[in-house]
Formats: sequence, C-alpha cells, structure tokens
Amino acid sequence: LGGSISRAIQQMSNATIIDEKVLNECLNEITRALLQSDVQFKLVRDMQTNIKKIVNLDDLAAGHNKRKIIQQAIFNELCKMLDPGKPSFTPKKGKTSVVMFVGLQGSGKTTTCTKYAYYHQKKGWKPALVCADTFRAGAFDQLKQNATKAKIPFYGSYMESDPVKIAEEGVERFKKENCDLIIVDTSGRHKQEAALFEEMRQVSEATKPDLVIFVMDSSIGQAAFDQAQAFKQSVAVGAVIVTKMDGHAKGGGALSAVAATKSPVIFIGTGEHMDEFEVFDVKPFVSRLLGMGDWSGFMDKIHEVVPMDQQPELLQKLSEGNFTLRIMYEQFQNILKMGPIGQVFSMLPGFSSELMPKGREKESQAKIKRYMTMMDSMTNEELDSSNPKLMNESRMMRIARGSGRHIREVMEMMEEYKRLAKIWSKMKGLKIPKKGEMSAL
Ligand code: GDP
Ligand code: MG
Repeated sequence: LGGSISRAIQQMSNATIIDEKVLNECLNEITRALLQSDVQFKLVRDMQTNIKKIVNLDDLAAGHNKRKIIQQAIFNELCKMLDPGKPSFTPKKGKTSVVMFVGLQGSGKTTTCTKYAYYHQKKGWKPALVCADTFRAGAFDQLKQNATKAKIPFYGSYMESDPVKIAEEGVERFKKENCDLIIVDTSGRHKQEAALFEEMRQVSEATKPDLVIFVMDSSIGQAAFDQAQAFKQSVAVGAVIVTKMDGHAKGGGALSAVAATKSPVIFIGTGEHMDEFEVFDVKPFVSRLLGMGDWSGFMDKIHEVVPMDQQPELLQKLSEGNFTLRIMYEQFQNILKMGPIGQVFSMLPGFSSELMPKGREKESQAKIKRYMTMMDSMTNEELDSSNPKLMNESRMMRIARGSGRHIREVMEMMEEYKRLAKIWSKMKGLKIPKKGEMSAL
C-alpha cells in the first residue's frame, strides 16, 4: 500500500503543472492501492469525492503551492479514515473496568495485554491480568512470566479447561481486590473458526467487559477487514491495537480494522518488550503509510525553526544515526533557547508524550535543565560516546555527586537518552530533503 501511494505522490511531485489529469491519475492510483488493502470501497470513494471537493483546480491554478494543497488533502483524508468519529471507552483510574483482548493466535494479544497493564501501572493504576486462554499449551505460563516480570497480579489455571469459568473467576477475584483495570487475555486460533467466536461471545457474556480491544498484527494487510469484522460480529469491539509496527509492515490494515469495527486505534506495539508500546498518533502513522517515513513532518519543522546555519550540521548528525549525549545536550539547549523548537521534537514519536507532555511545559523545562546540569558533570568521552554501556554505575555515581543530584535521576536521564537514541537510530541513512522539497507531508 505505502509503496504505490508514495509512488503516486512522487509522480505528482514530478509534474510541474498540476492539472486535472494528474490529479485523477494520482487519485486512481491511491484508490487502487487502498482497495487492494481491503479498505471499504465506500471509504475510498468518499475520500476521492472529498479530495476533488477540497482541491479546486481553478484555485490551484491561481495558487503557488499546488502540490502542497493536494498532498495535504490526501494526508488529511487518510487521517480522517482512521478516525471513526467517536473516542473509545476510556477506563478511569480508581474505577473498576474490565478490558477484554481478542484477536487471532500470534497477533500479539498476550504481549499487548501485559504492555497495556504495565503502561497503566506506571501511571499509578492497579491492573490485573486474567488468562482465559486454555486452548494453547503454555498460554498461562507465558502470561504468568510476563505478569511476574512486571509485578502485576494474575489469575489462571493449569487444570481448568473452561475459559469462561476462568475468566469469570479471575474477574470476580480482582474486583474483590479492588483492581481498577482487569484485563482478560483470550485464546486465538490460526484461522477464524466458529468455535473461537462462540468462545469469545461466552467469555464476553460472563465478564461483561467495559471495553473489547481487537489486537491486529500490522503485517496481515488485506485480511484485516474480514478478521476485524468477524470479531466485531461476535463481541462489541470498541478499540484496535496494531502490533509489530517495528517490522516492515506499514500497518495499512489498520484503515480496514477501523472501518470494520468503527473503533479507533488506541495504541501501537513497537517491539517485543514491555515498554515498546505507544499511544497511537495518527499523523506519523499516516506519514509512514504513505511511505514518507515518520520523519517528514519533523524535517519540515526543522527547516522552519532551526536557524539556517545550524541545519546542515543537525541533519548530518541525524543521518549518521549516532545519538550521543552531546547531541542530546545540544538539542536540549535548542529547546530551552528557542521555545518553539519544542514543536519540532513534539513530532517525534515518544519525545512529546514522555519527555514533554502537553500542558506541562514548565515541568518539562525544569527536567531538561536538571538533565543538562547532570550532563555538565560528564567527561568528553561520556558525552561523545553513543554506547550506553559505557555509563556504568560508578560513572553514574560520580555524575550524581558532581551535579548534586541523586543517582536515581542520572539513571532516569540515561533511560531517557536510550529511548531517544532508539528513535534517533531509525533516522540513520535518511535521505535528507532540501528545503521545500518535501513541504506538505
Ligand atoms: P497471541 O497469540 O495473540 O497471544 O500473541 P503473543 O502475545 O504470544 O505474540 C506472538 C509473538 O509476537 C510473540 O513472539 C511476541 O513476542 C511477538 N510480538 C507481539 N507484539 C509485538 C510487537 O509489537 N513487535 C514485535 N516485534 N513482536 C511482537
Ligand atoms: Mg496469547
């Protein structure tokens, strides 16, 4: 999907005059690509109609930024397709909610259950996990292992073979224990089978979930619509989580899942580890879908807010992909000095939600200043290394002493550094567009 869409846009970008023919060609290609990806025909047709409405060719003839207008229109339409128009049920901390996970075997349910629990636990919730998968051998062990690692209470059985009974007992127990987020992991099958859907219906009936989350592997592509629809028909799916976004798949199936379930995507899975989990953010997702990379908006912003004379250096560093503590220091300096550059970083997945949550800019600034004080106590070797292993405990202890902070804070900063370095490393080898080359997307 992403390939042909970006090809279509590429073709359009190459044309010097945008006329109706080019617009139609471009739309047709995107239409084909979206249909191939099993997005509902109606949605694709709506997109086409809307784009034609928005992109008035006469206006285009008069305006300067034709490509920008068309690109922006397509981008916006794809964003709209991922927005079912109403938010999903959101559990409230301190109030008991039951959340049931459904999806085919291997889609990432058990992993995602733990991530979801861990995500909330970090924010002060009291989550609990119930293993209602009695189909797959070892299912309970897997959940137990995950839960133990994250120190999350769990419930399951090696003996009981009735998933409905376990689910009911587990939910009951954790309600008594005043858990505010009771997560029910269910079984899957390799195929969509009537027995699976009947089981889901029964588990749902027994546990009365406040929210059912459909877990979808980003690589299933065309199968997404049928799969999502089949689950939606047996249980009240209210949200979607797309997993394995760290792989090659662009996640085009998410459009179909949203269409089939009329539910929003709420999180994405970006790795096998517990913390490789991000709140869904539609813009970078669509950028990626279009094959523009997560970084297009980011690059655009760089051109806008980074002083011209600093751009080549920063972009060079970006493309090398080595994120040192010194680069982090310099970027922090920029953030503090320039203010609006904060917007640049807010476009990086992970940067905004964790380091600089919206509405808490003051605290974020204070944190950044604290980090910089600690980095002032680092040696040049430490600042210029991109190997986090260099930073052993004795070094961190020295830095803590030198800056008058607690070692815990140094460790926290190093965690932040590692997280940003990981994001940064994805930019390695990035083709750096010159100013104006990639304007709208
Ligand atoms: P389930 O059968 O639906 O419960 O799926 P599992 O949770 O057991 O996951 C199946 C496989 O996918 C496991 O090897 C997981 O480690 C892996 N997995 C799950 N989510 C992700 C993800 O976001 N990224 C990657 N790379 N692997 C994942
Ligand atoms: Mg499982």
